[in-house]
Amino acid sequence: MGQSFKVFFIALPILCLAACFKQSPETKSKVELQYVLEQALKQENVVPVVIIGSGPSGLSAALYMARAGMKAFVFAGPIPCGQLTQTTYIENWPGHDRVLGSELMDDIKKQAESFGAAIIHDTVSKVDFSQWPFALETEDGRRFKAMSVIVATGATPRGLNIPGEREFWGKGVTTCAVCDAPFFKGKEVVIAGGGDSAAEMVFQLAPYVKKVTMLVRKEAMRAGVAMQKKVFAYPNAAVEFNKEITAVHGESGEVVAIDVYDNLLKTTERRPIDGVFLAIGHDPNNKILKGSSVELDESGYIVMNGRTQSTMLKGVFAAGEIQDPVYKQAIVASGEGVKAALDATSFLYSIGFNAEIGEQLDKKFFENFSDEKTEIQEISEKKELNELVLGAKGVVVLDFYGSNCPMCVRMVPSLEAVAHKLSGQVKIYKVHHTTSNYIVRVLWYKHDIKIKSLPSLLIFKDGKFIEMRTDCMSKVELLEYVKKFL
Ligand code: NDP
Repeated sequence: MGQSFKVFFIALPILCLAACFKQSPETKSKVELQYVLEQALKQENVVPVVIIGSGPSGLSAALYMARAGMKAFVFAGPIPCGQLTQTTYIENWPGHDRVLGSELMDDIKKQAESFGAAIIHDTVSKVDFSQWPFALETEDGRRFKAMSVIVATGATPRGLNIPGEREFWGKGVTTCAVCDAPFFKGKEVVIAGGGDSAAEMVFQLAPYVKKVTMLVRKEAMRAGVAMQKKVFAYPNAAVEFNKEITAVHGESGEVVAIDVYDNLLKTTERRPIDGVFLAIGHDPNNKILKGSSVELDESGYIVMNGRTQSTMLKGVFAAGEIQDPVYKQAIVASGEGVKAALDATSFLYSIGFNAEIGEQLDKKFFENFSDEKTEIQEISEKKELNELVLGAKGVVVLDFYGSNCPMCVRMVPSLEAVAHKLSGQVKIYKVHHTTSNYIVRVLWYKHDIKIKSLPSLLIFKDGKFIEMRTDCMSKVELLEYVKKFL
């Protein structure tokens, strides 16, 4: 691994914390694990702490672990830097009047890295908490063990689960207004939901669209008063109450109408529309925890141990939306990440971890934690399109992306990893949707290839267009997908 665990004793606070940890309510785990340090030292590929997820909670935890001299390994997961990268401006982060979500996350990431945290572009796909040190596996096939784990996997936007939703996903139905708003210039769109996310979508869409309508299923919006006031200030924004979308209809691969049910009048109308944006809440990302000894409540959130960030399993901690069905604020997630790091640090000290132990672990660490990738070349010119894509032999992948598109950012590690793995077999190029407008127009008008959502992945074989994908794929999914065309 090549990094050493330089544990700097910030003696007093840490010892205090270790003492507090011992005094905190006993973690009532259903599994009786033996936390014997000597056993851990006999094994290979063991790290003191792994953080699963890189949103505000994961990165804040990494910052605090790293500052305590504990090497923190953060597995970035499918959305590097988390959901905040999907918002525009944040006005309620203390100390900042107005800051872009993506910029804020980038700053926290850099700060954590400056203290030695390592951010790995891979996703933890399996955990085994029935043994200690805990065993983990990633999508890329990395296998290692961790003395402590901080789960910061966040939450995923919900879908409505109605006819037409999946069929027209990325073709007019989306959860990302910041990505797709420019595609709806002069059009009419609706937003399902009445919370802060829905209000935020109005701010993202109103500057582009002819009209945006929030369809709220109850008589009142859940969004905060300040957000509601801003919504009503847009002349092209409207809010309709007691309205639910029950179906999405399309023609020639794009959304043209929705069915809207009025739950007061008990009537349904077919309404012509160009786009449907979903902002109806989130589900906790708990897939890897199902069947593990980390306890989940009936809604799928992690059950926590009192006012700590410890789960009911000793050595496993959690922070952010995976364990928060109530507050769901980035700043709260960040604070919980800090608490989780302090709890994890005191746990490690309580079992006897120190600088020397860190160095012993380091010597027996052989798993490759560095990212293997090939940078994706950008194309924008007519000549490049003709020679590298339309006139090329073999498989060529074109990745259409946008500057403010978090889903596009999410795809980058997958594309770079696949470009590396399939180098010599597949060529991957990126095309900026706005600055390379020439390519977009030529494909649209001359080849009838219409890009209406970002990211859009186009597959060409021997110069011929094969198909387009508009969903976001993990490395493994993308690799399998591209291999199909070889
Ligand atoms: P919320 O859970 O707050 O709101 C979800 C909205 O979707 C509600 O209006 C809800 O209606 C509606 N809804 C849920 N299910 C359905 C359905 N099946 N059909 C139709 N409507 C449905 O989620 P948000 O994502 O808006 O916010 C999550 C958290 O993040 C909140 O704590 C929020 O404050 C925070 N946030 C803060 C922001 C900021 O401060 N800038 C920006 C974005 C989010 P109902 O009320 O009837 O349940």
